[in-house]
Amino acid sequence: MSSASSESKSSSASTGAQDSTAAPETDPFLTAQRQLDEAAGILELDEATHQLLRWPLRELKFVFPVRMDDGSVKVFHGYRVQHNDARGPAKGGLRFHPHETVHTVRALAAWMTWKTAVIDIPLGGGKGGVCCNPRELSTGELERVSRGYIRRVAGFIGPDSDVPAPDVYTDSRVMAWMLDEYEAIHGRHAPGVITGKPPVLGGSAGRGDATGFGVVVTIREALKALRIDASRTTASLQGFGKVGQATAIHYVNQLGGKLICVSSWDHEDKTAYTFFKHDGADPAFLRGITDSHGTIHKDKALQAGYEVRDGDAWRSAEVDLLIPAALENMITAGTVETISPRVKVLAEGANGPTTREADQALRRRGVFVIPDILCNAGGVTVSYFEQVQNAYNFYWPEQEVLDRLDEKMTAAFHVVHAMARRMDVHNRLAAYLVSVERVAKAMKLRGWV
Ligand code: GLU
Repeated sequence: MSSASSESKSSSASTGAQDSTAAPETDPFLTAQRQLDEAAGILELDEATHQLLRWPLRELKFVFPVRMDDGSVKVFHGYRVQHNDARGPAKGGLRFHPHETVHTVRALAAWMTWKTAVIDIPLGGGKGGVCCNPRELSTGELERVSRGYIRRVAGFIGPDSDVPAPDVYTDSRVMAWMLDEYEAIHGRHAPGVITGKPPVLGGSAGRGDATGFGVVVTIREALKALRIDASRTTASLQGFGKVGQATAIHYVNQLGGKLICVSSWDHEDKTAYTFFKHDGADPAFLRGITDSHGTIHKDKALQAGYEVRDGDAWRSAEVDLLIPAALENMITAGTVETISPRVKVLAEGANGPTTREADQALRRRGVFVIPDILCNAGGVTVSYFEQVQNAYNFYWPEQEVLDRLDEKMTAAFHVVHAMARRMDVHNRLAAYLVSVERVAKAMKLRGWV
């Protein structure tokens, strides 16, 4: 995981947000625009449609005060970006991260537009975030940040306009506070305003593991297409948060694959480590120690026979599958050459983990890339199911949620795969061709262009 470097609570009264300092290769919004441009050229999009899709329709950028436990007031920077809502309400997560910028949020919002379109659910794309380090906040402070954020965006979001969800460093507990604040402001219940809620507050069964479950469905279909026996494959995983944990568990339990290593951020040491187990890591054990220690505990892993290496070692592991499941820009032009020639599939559990330069290098090597907007769409798909259940006030058993999710992910995989073969293009471009065409069509039917 990228550095979640410390930000001293006492050093400043503000969290010091900035727009973008990224170099062009690792600038996520530039990456998102270039990905669109490539598809727009092939689809011969008219100029107005193309320009509308290059930019978010709306964005909200604000500061808000939070009373800290020591009595001081700290000012936080928050964002909510609605990239496109031609196919339905804007939809996408909220990240709490010390390096969050509005620029990154724009890219993530655009990727949500393509994600909801490629999976074919009636939603658009949005994203939000707060520049903060939740590890340095007490529970009370975290709650006040969550409620403070909602007070700023309460008029901008809603079940029929823009629906947030969990993402990096936010979870169902944060969603519960946010729901409560929104409902208090509006004076009525509105469970569909936010997804990823705890089940007792209208959350869907299966939402917690949905993204990882979906990642594994796409891996299963990719391996079938490549005629590779999943149970004989090995994998290397980067990131052991919600997505990484569920991916590891389903990969091992459902596909019978062998997880060789897992890389994870150590919040105490403020560095990442890679934990190797050549006869196969046990995801349930790793999840257990993460639950009790907040991270894969080095000593516990060593005691259980894991070899501990540096945080980059996951990338050069000799495996069949590489699964980045943390943050953007984890595979760049500078690091792509360290990937083992044995790797056949790259499954993007994270949003934007591969830069365009690295993507091109992987293509030259014949790696089968399952692009993020398809690979990690399981979370937003179950978020959509959650909204459907909220609207009916009638809830489905977990198996029904997972069956419907499997069906959606499998169908989307094959639509993209067929497009790639028909147009003789790489998978990412094929996914963009499918989704951009769908969004452009909705815009045209609405008379926007
Ligand atoms: N944060 C997840 C994503 O990037 C899920 C978004 C949602 O459920 O709205 O896809």
